[in-house]
Amino acid sequence: MTYELNVAHLYGDLMNTYGDVGNILALNYYAKQMDVKLNVKVVSLDQDFKAADYDLAFFGGGQDFEQVIVSKDIQTKKKELTAFIEDGGPVLAICGGFQLLGHYYVDAKGDKIPGIGALDHYTLSQDNHRFIGDIVIKNADNGETYHGFENHQGRTFLGKAESPLGNVVQGKGNNGEDGTEGAIYKNVYCSYFHGPILTRNGNLAKRLLVAALKRSYPDADFSEQEALPVPATF
Ligand code: GLN
Repeated sequence: MTYELNVAHLYGDLMNTYGDVGNILALNYYAKQMDVKLNVKVVSLDQDFKAADYDLAFFGGGQDFEQVIVSKDIQTKKKELTAFIEDGGPVLAICGGFQLLGHYYVDAKGDKIPGIGALDHYTLSQDNHRFIGDIVIKNADNGETYHGFENHQGRTFLGKAESPLGNVVQGKGNNGEDGTEGAIYKNVYCSYFHGPILTRNGNLAKRLLVAALKRSYPDADFSEQEALPVPATF
């Protein structure tokens, strides 16, 4: 393979609801098409995350119990994760991971669980209710439609510097009120989509890989890779 990317799978042993690890399989699938070898490493409790060591990060969803544990540990990685994000490092964060990149998450018991505030959103709870079901959104800038499944208690409200991953066509999205779903900030893509998101939305997988490749191989031309067709199934 011509290129290599180091991928951090943040808390991959704890944050993996509805097979979110499938996003790593999908990344691998598309990476192979693009002549890229992925070196994936789970970075979990008490392990170092050094921004300079990674080209891409993935952070899956989790239940409240795991999120409380991860919330404490991730504070030790806050500085490096924030530096990675601010430097344009590509990240995909799903559901519980999305919530913990923001300021805080109020869980089903009403406890406020701190995030790292690398992104400017916050997440409130809802009374004895969850948003569950199939969801479809459309991104206003690139016109792409994304399909997935949502199951979350939290209601997330985006900050000014963030734009939504898409506007809700069907389903509830970030909070069931403002029609937004997910978040984009620099090269960080967040979503409530399980399914996993990248197996059903290959364009997003390729956008993440191209962002990582452009950053890690600034002299290479990835326009050809961007034009590769995305198969419906694999
Ligand atoms: N525990 C969080 C919530 O219920 C996140 C759920 C998830 O990651 N699926 O909102």
